[in-house]
Amino acid sequence: MDHFELKNGELHAEDVPLAAISRETGTPVYVYSRATLTRHARVFREALSALPSVHIAFAVKSNPNLAVLRLLAREGYGADVVSEGEMNRALAAGMKAEDVVFSGVGKTHAELTAAVKAGIGQFNLESEEEGIELAEIAASLGKTASCALRVNPDVDAKTHAKISTGKSENKFGVPYDLAAEIYARLSALPGLEMRGLAVHIGSQISDLEPSRQAFLKMGELMKALRGQGLSVTHMDLGGGLGVPYKAGDQLPTPADYGAMVAEVAGGWGATLMFEPGRVITGNSGVLVTEVVRVKQGANHPWVVVDAAMNDLARPAMYDAWHDFMAVKPSGETMTANIVGPICESSDTFAMAREIDVVKKGDLGVFRTAGAYGATMANTYNSRALVPEVMVDGDKWSLVANRIDPATILAAEQVPEWLD
Ligand SMILES: *Cc1c(COP(=O)(O)O)cnc(C)c1O
Repeated sequence: MDHFELKNGELHAEDVPLAAISRETGTPVYVYSRATLTRHARVFREALSALPSVHIAFAVKSNPNLAVLRLLAREGYGADVVSEGEMNRALAAGMKAEDVVFSGVGKTHAELTAAVKAGIGQFNLESEEEGIELAEIAASLGKTASCALRVNPDVDAKTHAKISTGKSENKFGVPYDLAAEIYARLSALPGLEMRGLAVHIGSQISDLEPSRQAFLKMGELMKALRGQGLSVTHMDLGGGLGVPYKAGDQLPTPADYGAMVAEVAGGWGATLMFEPGRVITGNSGVLVTEVVRVKQGANHPWVVVDAAMNDLARPAMYDAWHDFMAVKPSGETMTANIVGPICESSDTFAMAREIDVVKKGDLGVFRTAGAYGATMANTYNSRALVPEVMVDGDKWSLVANRIDPATILAAEQVPEWLD
């Protein structure tokens, strides 16, 4: 459920017509709904309410906008970060250091040091090598780093290959069969407090069974570690719950997910940690775009919009589907291809799709663009970095400025030896 609806024949974000926003900001522009974000944050928390001890760390990479993070901090969310930059955003947004989890296979020495100094709550170690390095850093600073060991459960999440992370051929975590001995060795190091295990098998998960299998395996590993006298007080079950991108798609709900977790992990006697991203931010945002022109095609007309793969990369990267809607639909539809202006054939949002009739100058939106949208934007083809807006009832604010090509050009220089 979201708050992007037609009112008087015109698409609104909450009570604000999208056309009123884009008149001032220009297009393309991302628009987020505060009410939708708040609702998703609460629905997800509520879905886990049967569990005795829960910590939720929002996956910052899905939408790192400062205003989004502030809203989630106010909802009591912590953060799952994958770089020092994301960590600093989470802290700047008001999240407590102890509520921050640091994930990622390539945390550098400098990043680990900064995170130990900041006193973040948990490092999700992706290798024994990383644990040894972190132990040295923490010990030299006279600190103790709380850690979970990320385990690769060798389970197929049955999602797109590029966002599948839990198979043995993926780079993430330590192999399941080696996890117990690595955990034992790391537990003996000064500077580390090994407190649990972490798992994250992928993103846009549409079937709960692989997650269930992974969690069952993690539960067995937890019991084996405890059987060896090792402490396991925290179990991080990652993120990954999918969202419907196509009207009518049926996906497991947060409540379905929470019931599955309660069934598998409710009796573990551990604090359960979660790292949701897309399920919180996905349909909290749309990308508003203007039709540049409609050009004739061999089979179908090409609707050329002013948004491109640099603004919304998911279709080009993951063959992802985003519903398209006219901001003022006439009620008539046509079959068309929707493309951006970038000089790549992958700059394609939809092929042979039944869409609202649009013509030059009309506004349209790509829906469910709040996750992995603006955060993946770049300036390819010397385009601007896309701005972001948040709506709250009948008011709205720019929450990220458009960064013009001129600003980016000004950061470059020609060495004098070239002239
Ligand atoms: C990307 C990621 C998440 C969030 O995934 P979503 O599909 O957005 O929920 C959580 N944890 C880790 C470790 C990740 O890499």
